[in-house]
Amino acid sequence: MTRELIGIGIVSGSAPGIAIGRAHLLGASELDIQQYQIERKDVLHEVARLNNAFSIVRAELDELRGHVALDAPSEVGAFLDLHRMILDDSHLCDEPRDLVRQKLINAEWALSIQLEEVCRQFESIEDEYLRERSQDVRQVVDRVMKVLTSGKPLTAVVVPKVAEGERLILVARDLAPADVLHLKDRADLDVAGFVTELGGPTSHTAILARSLGLPSILGVSGAREAVKEGDLVVIDAESGRLHVVPEAGALADFRQRLRAQVESRSQLRKLKGKLSRTKDGIALELMANIEMPGDVRDALEAGADGVGLFRTEFLFMNRDELPDEDEQFEAYAKVARAMKGKPVVIRTLDVGADKVLNAAARLGLGMALSAPTVESNPALGLRAIRYCLAYPELFLTQLRAILRASAVGTVRILVPMLAHVHEVEQALAFVARAKEQLKERKQKFDGRVPVGGMIEVPAAALSLPAFVKRMKFFSIGTNDLIQYTLAIDRADSSVAHLYDHLHPAVLHLISRTIRIGTRARTPVAVCGEMAGEVELAELLLGMGLRQFSMHPSQLLSVKERLMKVSTKTAGKLAARVLRADDPIDVRRALDRSMAQPGAD
Ligand code: PEP
Ligand code: MG
Repeated sequence: MTRELIGIGIVSGSAPGIAIGRAHLLGASELDIQQYQIERKDVLHEVARLNNAFSIVRAELDELRGHVALDAPSEVGAFLDLHRMILDDSHLCDEPRDLVRQKLINAEWALSIQLEEVCRQFESIEDEYLRERSQDVRQVVDRVMKVLTSGKPLTAVVVPKVAEGERLILVARDLAPADVLHLKDRADLDVAGFVTELGGPTSHTAILARSLGLPSILGVSGAREAVKEGDLVVIDAESGRLHVVPEAGALADFRQRLRAQVESRSQLRKLKGKLSRTKDGIALELMANIEMPGDVRDALEAGADGVGLFRTEFLFMNRDELPDEDEQFEAYAKVARAMKGKPVVIRTLDVGADKVLNAAARLGLGMALSAPTVESNPALGLRAIRYCLAYPELFLTQLRAILRASAVGTVRILVPMLAHVHEVEQALAFVARAKEQLKERKQKFDGRVPVGGMIEVPAAALSLPAFVKRMKFFSIGTNDLIQYTLAIDRADSSVAHLYDHLHPAVLHLISRTIRIGTRARTPVAVCGEMAGEVELAELLLGMGLRQFSMHPSQLLSVKERLMKVSTKTAGKLAARVLRADDPIDVRRALDRSMAQPGAD
């Protein structure tokens, strides 16, 4: 009988979102932990068992680390290093030994007490990312536990043989990044994807699944009860659904969808090296949005014409001490070098609203005394350029780091959330000041680094004639432009239905910005989510847009679409859409254009 379970689907843009295979249940994390008192004469023996188990897991992780292929995603090595660090932390390896001695308990019991203690500390952390790291601690302890109870490391997992041509879907309570890696690399297994009961969208397991292109579903509670060993299962990571023993008809549909996805992904990859041009030969720039320096690999992989948005705030978040100038320089220079002369647009710090710095970091800026702990309207509060102008040293440090990176690549500076001309002028004055400081220090930078502004507040879009006199380029942040035009908090799910990118007011602001920028010969890009939506590509092209920046996973699909349309047809579509009063008419016009690509 068919069953359906729901979780968090993890899909990478370069791989299909569907996986079909035979379930293999992994029970490694569900160890039956024995707890008993020991006699004092047995203390040394229990301590030796602990030491031995930690050594075996160290060797196991080192061995896996040594096998990480040179071209493997950078996260792979980083996660293994993190788990190795956790393993060496004295709270985990020393404290259980003391517990054995003091409480006269067996090794497993001591380790489980300490695990709960460490996890309790993690789980009380406010920051979501750090809180989720308790999961990493549990995964590391699971490995040690496994050795303690069975004498064998986790990597010795025995997986059943499946019929010729069949693939495996692993179903586990939890899978550590090291397990995913190990199981994916085993020559005797063909792992198509995995399902876990634990894990959220920001867990390391999710990040790794995405970068390895393994469709997966995490957080499926009760998965190991609902699925039996050897069941035929289908992962539909796009909808986050796990289909257990699907009916023949449904299975045939999934196989058909999988074939179509494999075919379209491989067609898309062929576009990677092609010039980005419309059907009528107009040159386009299709660029990537990145959040951390390591993401540049995805940008290159997608054949991006540059990095159109580097959201630098992610370098500053989830840590107590802010990155200093050298650390920032290394991060920006890494991206600039990797892009080998292609443009890299580095956005200055956009913290505030839903992207907050840790309390300790804010304290370090001297904020604690004056700032309210809970802002009543954070999206309208001290955010982005407002934040930077309020903390001049923070801003100058970042500007110097970005300017220094301009000596090793093609760098542009992008300032977020501008609304006033005086903010533009102050931001430019800060850039000039940072240049002077570098000159005094005799440090290299490109004196002509262009400075541009994000257009993401309606006031900025309406002030464009004044802005174009002062700035060298613009990038429309549609995510915020929609939020601020429609007065919809983009993080508030209760009003999410009103967050409509096709609202005529939003479309007119976008069109106007592109038109005025183009007339003034000032380049305009779109870097909000709208740039990555295939259905909107023709409309934006028709409004005159030539630079699109989006998540790397969307780039080739947008490219495919744009290469099929001409600017003339697109212009007609834009004119029709801009005459519409209602988003429903806009949607109708877009659906028609999607159904007949290239039709006039
Ligand atoms: C935007 O607002 O569209 C944008 C690209 O910036 P962010 O999503 O980082 O606010
Ligand atoms: Mg924004």
